[in-house]
Amino acid sequence: MVIVMQAHAEPEQVAAVIARVEGHGFTPHVSKGSERTIIGVIGDERPVDPEIFQVMPGVERVVRILAPFKLASREFHPADRVIELPNGARLGGEDVLLMAGPCAVESGEQLRASAEAVHSLGVRVLRGGAFKPRTSPYSFQGLGEKGLLLLREIADELGMAVITEVVSPEDVPLVAEHAEILQIGARNMQNYRLLRATGDSGRPVLLKRGLGSTIDELLQAAEYILAHGNDQVAVCERGIRTFETATRFTLDINAVPVLKHMTSLPVVVDPSHATGRSELVGAVARAAVAAGADGLLVEVHSNPQDALSDGPQSLDPPQFAKLVEECTRIAAAIGRTTG
Ligand code: PEP
Ligand code: MN
Repeated sequence: MVIVMQAHAEPEQVAAVIARVEGHGFTPHVSKGSERTIIGVIGDERPVDPEIFQVMPGVERVVRILAPFKLASREFHPADRVIELPNGARLGGEDVLLMAGPCAVESGEQLRASAEAVHSLGVRVLRGGAFKPRTSPYSFQGLGEKGLLLLREIADELGMAVITEVVSPEDVPLVAEHAEILQIGARNMQNYRLLRATGDSGRPVLLKRGLGSTIDELLQAAEYILAHGNDQVAVCERGIRTFETATRFTLDINAVPVLKHMTSLPVVVDPSHATGRSELVGAVARAAVAAGADGLLVEVHSNPQDALSDGPQSLDPPQFAKLVEECTRIAAAIGRTTG
Protein backbone atom coordinates (compact mmCIF):
# COMPACT_ATOMS: atom_id res chain seq x y z
CA MET A 1 0.00 0.00 0.00
CA VAL A 2 1.20 3.49 -0.78
CA ILE A 3 -0.11 6.55 1.05
CA VAL A 4 0.17 9.79 -0.89
CA MET A 5 0.02 12.85 1.35
CA GLN A 6 -1.55 16.11 0.16
CA ALA A 7 0.82 18.77 -1.19
CA HIS A 8 2.23 20.67 1.72
CA ALA A 9 0.74 18.38 4.36
CA GLU A 10 1.80 19.44 7.87
CA PRO A 11 4.74 17.53 9.36
CA GLU A 12 2.46 16.52 12.29
CA GLN A 13 0.00 14.97 9.82
CA VAL A 14 2.80 12.97 8.21
CA ALA A 15 4.01 11.90 11.64
CA ALA A 16 0.50 10.79 12.66
CA VAL A 17 0.17 8.63 9.54
CA ILE A 18 3.59 7.08 10.14
CA ALA A 19 2.57 6.33 13.73
CA ARG A 20 -0.62 4.60 12.56
CA VAL A 21 1.30 2.59 9.95
CA GLU A 22 3.67 1.39 12.68
CA GLY A 23 0.80 0.83 15.07
CA HIS A 24 -0.62 -1.75 12.63
CA GLY A 25 2.68 -3.60 12.59
CA PHE A 26 3.93 -2.27 9.24
CA THR A 27 7.24 -0.68 8.41
CA PRO A 28 6.84 2.78 6.84
CA HIS A 29 9.06 3.75 3.97
CA VAL A 30 8.97 7.55 3.77
CA SER A 31 9.89 9.41 0.61
CA LYS A 32 9.90 13.23 0.89
CA GLY A 33 9.58 15.09 -2.41
CA SER A 34 9.79 18.85 -2.86
CA GLU A 35 5.99 19.15 -2.61
CA ARG A 36 4.63 15.99 -1.13
CA THR A 37 5.50 13.04 0.98
CA ILE A 38 4.75 9.47 -0.03
CA ILE A 39 4.66 6.72 2.58
CA GLY A 40 5.17 3.13 1.47
CA VAL A 41 3.57 0.57 3.78
CA ILE A 42 5.78 -2.50 3.93
CA GLY A 43 4.12 -5.76 5.01
CA ASP A 44 1.07 -7.83 4.11
CA GLU A 45 -1.52 -5.14 3.68
CA ARG A 46 -4.36 -7.47 2.72
CA PRO A 47 -6.07 -7.72 6.10
CA VAL A 48 -6.12 -3.92 6.45
CA ASP A 49 -8.82 -1.61 5.13
CA PRO A 50 -7.15 1.34 3.31
CA GLU A 51 -9.87 3.59 4.78
CA ILE A 52 -8.07 3.65 8.13
CA PHE A 53 -5.41 5.79 6.44
CA GLN A 54 -7.67 7.50 3.91
CA VAL A 55 -9.64 9.26 6.67
CA MET A 56 -6.56 10.84 8.28
CA PRO A 57 -5.96 14.59 7.89
CA GLY A 58 -3.43 15.41 5.20
CA VAL A 59 -3.88 12.16 3.26
CA GLU A 60 -4.69 12.59 -0.42
CA ARG A 61 -5.10 8.98 -1.49
CA VAL A 62 -4.20 5.44 -0.61
CA VAL A 63 -3.20 3.01 -3.34
CA ARG A 64 -3.36 -0.72 -2.78
CA ILE A 65 -0.54 -2.79 -4.22
CA LEU A 66 -1.86 -6.24 -3.36
CA ALA A 67 -5.32 -7.54 -4.19
CA PRO A 68 -7.74 -7.39 -1.24
CA PHE A 69 -7.88 -11.18 -1.04
CA LYS A 70 -5.10 -13.54 -0.14
CA LEU A 71 -6.19 -17.18 0.14
CA ALA A 72 -7.99 -16.96 -3.20
CA SER A 73 -5.01 -15.45 -4.98
CA ARG A 74 -2.73 -17.35 -7.29
CA GLU A 75 0.27 -15.78 -5.58
CA PHE A 76 -0.70 -17.51 -2.35
CA HIS A 77 -1.55 -20.83 -3.99
CA PRO A 78 0.22 -21.03 -7.38
CA ALA A 79 -0.87 -24.54 -8.37
CA ASP A 80 -4.34 -25.07 -9.82
CA ARG A 81 -6.66 -26.33 -7.13
CA VAL A 82 -8.56 -29.53 -7.85
CA ILE A 83 -11.82 -30.54 -6.20
CA GLU A 84 -12.20 -34.31 -6.01
CA LEU A 85 -15.74 -35.65 -5.77
CA PRO A 86 -16.59 -39.01 -4.16
CA ASN A 87 -17.66 -40.53 -7.50
CA GLY A 88 -14.26 -39.81 -9.04
CA ALA A 89 -15.29 -36.67 -10.95
CA ARG A 90 -12.84 -33.79 -10.62
CA LEU A 91 -13.31 -30.07 -10.92
CA GLY A 92 -10.10 -28.22 -11.82
CA GLY A 93 -6.95 -29.64 -13.24
CA GLU A 94 -6.79 -31.26 -16.65
CA ASP A 95 -10.35 -32.08 -17.59
CA VAL A 96 -13.37 -29.90 -18.23
CA LEU A 97 -16.12 -31.07 -15.89
CA LEU A 98 -19.65 -31.15 -17.27
CA MET A 99 -22.44 -30.47 -14.78
CA ALA A 100 -25.93 -30.64 -16.21
CA GLY A 101 -29.57 -31.10 -15.38
CA PRO A 102 -32.75 -29.10 -15.06
CA CYS A 103 -32.99 -25.60 -13.65
CA ALA A 104 -35.37 -26.90 -10.99
CA VAL A 105 -36.39 -30.29 -9.70
CA GLU A 106 -40.07 -30.48 -10.62
CA SER A 107 -40.97 -34.14 -10.15
CA GLY A 108 -39.36 -37.56 -9.94
CA GLU A 109 -40.25 -38.34 -13.57
CA GLN A 110 -38.88 -35.04 -14.90
CA LEU A 111 -35.66 -35.33 -12.92
CA ARG A 112 -35.10 -38.99 -13.79
CA ALA A 113 -35.61 -38.42 -17.52
CA SER A 114 -33.29 -35.39 -17.52
CA ALA A 115 -30.64 -37.11 -15.37
CA GLU A 116 -30.65 -40.27 -17.50
CA ALA A 117 -30.24 -38.17 -20.63
CA VAL A 118 -27.20 -36.27 -19.35
CA HIS A 119 -25.72 -39.35 -17.69
CA SER A 120 -25.85 -41.25 -20.98
CA LEU A 121 -23.66 -38.49 -22.45
CA GLY A 122 -20.97 -38.96 -19.82
CA VAL A 123 -22.06 -36.31 -17.29
CA ARG A 124 -21.20 -37.25 -13.72
CA VAL A 125 -22.54 -34.23 -11.86
CA LEU A 126 -26.30 -33.66 -11.79
CA ARG A 127 -27.58 -30.13 -11.33
CA GLY A 128 -31.08 -29.22 -10.19
CA GLY A 129 -32.54 -26.54 -7.96
CA ALA A 130 -34.58 -27.57 -4.93
CA PHE A 131 -34.58 -24.12 -3.33
CA LYS A 132 -35.09 -21.62 -6.13
CA PRO A 133 -34.31 -17.91 -5.71
CA ARG A 134 -36.90 -16.54 -8.16
CA THR A 135 -37.19 -12.91 -9.16
CA SER A 136 -40.97 -13.04 -8.75
CA PRO A 137 -42.57 -14.40 -5.56
CA TYR A 138 -45.31 -15.90 -7.77
CA SER A 139 -42.89 -18.08 -9.77
CA PHE A 140 -42.25 -21.74 -8.90
CA GLN A 141 -40.08 -21.71 -5.77
CA GLY A 142 -38.81 -25.28 -5.93
CA LEU A 143 -39.73 -28.46 -4.03
CA GLY A 144 -37.39 -27.78 -1.11
CA GLU A 145 -36.36 -30.84 0.89
CA LYS A 146 -38.42 -33.15 -1.31
CA GLY A 147 -36.38 -31.92 -4.28
CA LEU A 148 -33.15 -32.66 -2.44
CA LEU A 149 -34.27 -36.21 -1.70
CA LEU A 150 -35.16 -36.77 -5.35
CA LEU A 151 -31.77 -35.45 -6.46
CA ARG A 152 -30.00 -37.77 -4.04
CA GLU A 153 -32.04 -40.82 -4.95
CA ILE A 154 -31.68 -40.42 -8.72
CA ALA A 155 -28.02 -39.38 -8.58
CA ASP A 156 -27.26 -42.44 -6.45
CA GLU A 157 -29.01 -44.72 -8.93
CA LEU A 158 -26.79 -43.34 -11.68
CA GLY A 159 -23.55 -42.93 -9.70
CA MET A 160 -23.67 -39.16 -10.10
CA ALA A 161 -22.72 -36.35 -7.72
CA VAL A 162 -25.25 -33.59 -6.98
CA ILE A 163 -24.82 -29.85 -7.25
CA THR A 164 -27.68 -27.77 -5.90
CA GLU A 165 -28.23 -24.26 -4.63
CA VAL A 166 -28.49 -23.30 -1.01
CA VAL A 167 -30.19 -19.98 -0.34
CA SER A 168 -30.06 -19.53 3.41
CA PRO A 169 -27.50 -20.25 6.15
CA GLU A 170 -30.03 -22.35 8.11
CA ASP A 171 -30.41 -24.75 5.17
CA VAL A 172 -26.67 -25.41 4.75
CA PRO A 173 -26.53 -28.55 6.94
CA LEU A 174 -29.57 -30.05 5.21
CA VAL A 175 -28.29 -29.34 1.70
CA ALA A 176 -24.78 -30.51 2.66
CA GLU A 177 -26.28 -33.82 3.78
CA HIS A 178 -27.71 -34.50 0.32
CA ALA A 179 -25.40 -32.76 -2.16
CA GLU A 180 -21.70 -33.06 -2.96
CA ILE A 181 -21.43 -29.45 -4.16
CA LEU A 182 -23.23 -26.48 -2.65
CA GLN A 183 -24.08 -23.79 -5.16
CA ILE A 184 -24.28 -20.16 -4.09
CA GLY A 185 -26.39 -18.30 -6.60
CA ALA A 186 -25.64 -14.99 -8.25
CA ARG A 187 -28.20 -13.22 -6.08
CA ASN A 188 -26.50 -14.45 -2.94
CA MET A 189 -22.86 -13.89 -3.84
CA GLN A 190 -22.56 -11.19 -1.20
CA ASN A 191 -24.71 -12.87 1.45
CA TYR A 192 -21.86 -13.05 3.92
CA ARG A 193 -23.66 -15.15 6.53
CA LEU A 194 -24.39 -17.71 3.85
CA LEU A 195 -20.77 -17.64 2.66
CA ARG A 196 -19.54 -18.25 6.19
CA ALA A 197 -22.03 -21.05 6.71
CA THR A 198 -20.88 -22.84 3.58
CA GLY A 199 -17.31 -22.33 4.79
CA ASP A 200 -18.14 -24.52 7.76
CA SER A 201 -20.00 -27.15 5.72
CA GLY A 202 -17.11 -29.39 4.69
CA ARG A 203 -18.59 -29.56 1.16
CA PRO A 204 -17.16 -28.03 -2.03
CA VAL A 205 -18.84 -24.75 -2.97
CA LEU A 206 -19.55 -23.33 -6.41
CA LEU A 207 -19.79 -19.57 -6.01
CA LYS A 208 -21.57 -17.77 -8.82
CA ARG A 209 -20.66 -14.22 -9.77
CA GLY A 210 -23.31 -11.65 -8.87
CA LEU A 211 -25.04 -10.05 -11.82
CA GLY A 212 -23.59 -6.66 -10.90
CA SER A 213 -20.37 -7.76 -9.25
CA THR A 214 -16.80 -7.22 -10.30
CA ILE A 215 -14.24 -10.01 -10.48
CA ASP A 216 -12.53 -8.51 -7.43
CA GLU A 217 -15.79 -8.71 -5.46
CA LEU A 218 -16.29 -12.30 -6.60
CA LEU A 219 -12.84 -13.24 -5.31
CA GLN A 220 -13.41 -11.40 -2.04
CA ALA A 221 -16.62 -13.41 -1.60
CA ALA A 222 -14.64 -16.60 -2.30
CA GLU A 223 -12.15 -15.42 0.32
CA TYR A 224 -14.94 -15.51 2.93
CA ILE A 225 -15.47 -19.21 2.30
CA LEU A 226 -11.75 -19.96 2.21
CA ALA A 227 -11.17 -17.94 5.38
CA HIS A 228 -13.82 -20.06 7.09
CA GLY A 229 -11.78 -23.16 6.64
CA ASN A 230 -13.11 -24.49 3.33
CA ASP A 231 -10.51 -24.66 0.58
CA GLN A 232 -12.82 -26.42 -1.88
CA VAL A 233 -14.22 -23.44 -3.72
CA ALA A 234 -14.86 -22.93 -7.43
CA VAL A 235 -16.06 -19.70 -9.01
CA CYS A 236 -18.59 -19.38 -11.82
CA GLU A 237 -19.09 -16.76 -14.51
CA ARG A 238 -22.80 -16.78 -15.37
CA GLY A 239 -23.23 -13.48 -17.19
CA ILE A 240 -23.46 -9.96 -15.87
CA ARG A 241 -25.96 -7.19 -16.46
CA THR A 242 -25.01 -4.76 -19.20
CA PHE A 243 -26.93 -2.37 -21.47
CA GLU A 244 -27.46 -5.24 -23.94
CA THR A 245 -30.97 -6.66 -24.07
CA ALA A 246 -30.58 -9.27 -26.84
CA THR A 247 -29.57 -11.83 -24.25
CA ARG A 248 -30.69 -12.35 -20.65
CA PHE A 249 -27.24 -11.41 -19.31
CA THR A 250 -23.86 -10.85 -21.00
CA LEU A 251 -21.24 -13.54 -20.56
CA ASP A 252 -18.01 -11.87 -19.55
CA ILE A 253 -15.73 -14.20 -21.47
CA ASN A 254 -12.75 -12.12 -20.30
CA ALA A 255 -13.54 -13.27 -16.78
CA VAL A 256 -12.32 -16.77 -17.61
CA PRO A 257 -8.67 -15.94 -18.41
CA VAL A 258 -8.68 -13.07 -15.92
CA LEU A 259 -9.81 -15.40 -13.13
CA LYS A 260 -7.37 -18.11 -14.21
CA HIS A 261 -4.63 -15.50 -13.91
CA MET A 262 -5.75 -14.13 -10.53
CA THR A 263 -6.75 -17.32 -8.75
CA SER A 264 -6.00 -21.01 -8.72
CA LEU A 265 -9.62 -21.86 -7.85
CA PRO A 266 -11.40 -23.80 -10.63
CA VAL A 267 -13.37 -21.56 -13.00
CA VAL A 268 -16.78 -22.67 -14.25
CA VAL A 269 -19.01 -21.08 -16.89
CA ASP A 270 -22.80 -21.24 -16.96
CA PRO A 271 -23.81 -20.57 -20.59
CA SER A 272 -27.51 -21.09 -19.81
CA HIS A 273 -28.16 -18.13 -17.51
CA ALA A 274 -25.57 -16.08 -19.42
CA THR A 275 -27.63 -16.18 -22.61
CA GLY A 276 -31.17 -17.09 -21.57
CA ARG A 277 -31.71 -18.56 -25.05
CA SER A 278 -31.24 -22.25 -25.79
CA GLU A 279 -30.12 -21.61 -29.38
CA LEU A 280 -27.12 -19.63 -28.10
CA VAL A 281 -26.02 -21.94 -25.30
CA GLY A 282 -23.88 -24.30 -27.41
CA ALA A 283 -21.80 -21.54 -29.03
CA VAL A 284 -21.18 -19.81 -25.71
CA ALA A 285 -20.25 -23.12 -24.07
CA ARG A 286 -17.70 -23.74 -26.82
CA ALA A 287 -16.25 -20.26 -26.29
CA ALA A 288 -15.99 -20.94 -22.56
CA VAL A 289 -14.05 -24.16 -23.09
CA ALA A 290 -11.78 -22.44 -25.62
CA ALA A 291 -11.14 -19.63 -23.11
CA GLY A 292 -9.98 -22.13 -20.49
CA ALA A 293 -13.01 -22.89 -18.31
CA ASP A 294 -12.56 -25.88 -15.99
CA GLY A 295 -16.23 -26.74 -16.00
CA LEU A 296 -19.62 -26.03 -17.55
CA LEU A 297 -22.92 -25.80 -15.71
CA VAL A 298 -25.70 -26.35 -18.24
CA GLU A 299 -29.47 -26.48 -17.90
CA VAL A 300 -30.92 -29.53 -19.62
CA HIS A 301 -34.57 -30.52 -19.38
CA SER A 302 -36.17 -33.67 -20.76
CA ASN A 303 -38.93 -31.48 -22.17
CA PRO A 304 -38.07 -27.75 -22.06
CA GLN A 305 -41.55 -26.69 -23.26
CA ASP A 306 -42.98 -27.96 -19.99
CA ALA A 307 -40.26 -26.56 -17.69
CA LEU A 308 -41.51 -24.70 -14.62
CA SER A 309 -38.46 -22.44 -14.71
CA ASP A 310 -35.97 -21.32 -17.35
CA GLY A 311 -37.51 -23.34 -20.20
CA PRO A 312 -36.34 -20.88 -22.89
CA GLN A 313 -32.69 -21.45 -22.00
CA SER A 314 -32.91 -25.18 -21.28
CA LEU A 315 -31.49 -27.61 -23.83
CA ASP A 316 -33.34 -30.76 -24.76
CA PRO A 317 -31.26 -33.97 -24.76
CA PRO A 318 -30.36 -33.87 -28.51
CA GLN A 319 -29.24 -30.24 -28.22
CA PHE A 320 -27.14 -31.13 -25.20
CA ALA A 321 -25.63 -34.11 -27.02
CA LYS A 322 -24.46 -31.71 -29.72
CA LEU A 323 -22.99 -29.37 -27.09
CA VAL A 324 -21.05 -32.22 -25.47
CA GLU A 325 -19.73 -33.44 -28.79
CA GLU A 326 -18.61 -29.96 -29.88
CA CYS A 327 -17.14 -28.98 -26.52
CA THR A 328 -15.21 -32.25 -26.42
CA ARG A 329 -13.64 -31.36 -29.75
CA ILE A 330 -12.77 -27.84 -28.57
CA ALA A 331 -11.30 -29.29 -25.37
CA ALA A 332 -9.18 -31.74 -27.37
CA ALA A 333 -7.82 -28.85 -29.44
CA ILE A 334 -6.37 -27.33 -26.27
CA GLY A 335 -5.16 -30.62 -24.83
CA ARG A 336 -8.06 -31.33 -22.47
CA THR A 337 -10.90 -33.80 -22.29
CA THR A 338 -14.47 -33.37 -21.08
CA GLY A 339 -16.03 -35.58 -18.49
C1 PEP B 1 -29.23 -21.56 -11.21
O1 PEP B 1 -28.12 -22.00 -11.56
O2 PEP B 1 -30.22 -22.27 -11.10
C2 PEP B 1 -29.40 -20.12 -10.93
C3 PEP B 1 -30.45 -19.65 -10.28
O3 PEP B 1 -28.39 -19.37 -11.40
P1 PEP B 1 -27.93 -17.88 -11.03
O4 PEP B 1 -27.78 -17.83 -9.54
O5 PEP B 1 -26.65 -17.74 -11.76
O6 PEP B 1 -29.00 -16.95 -11.53
MN1 MN C 1 -32.14 -21.55 -13.95
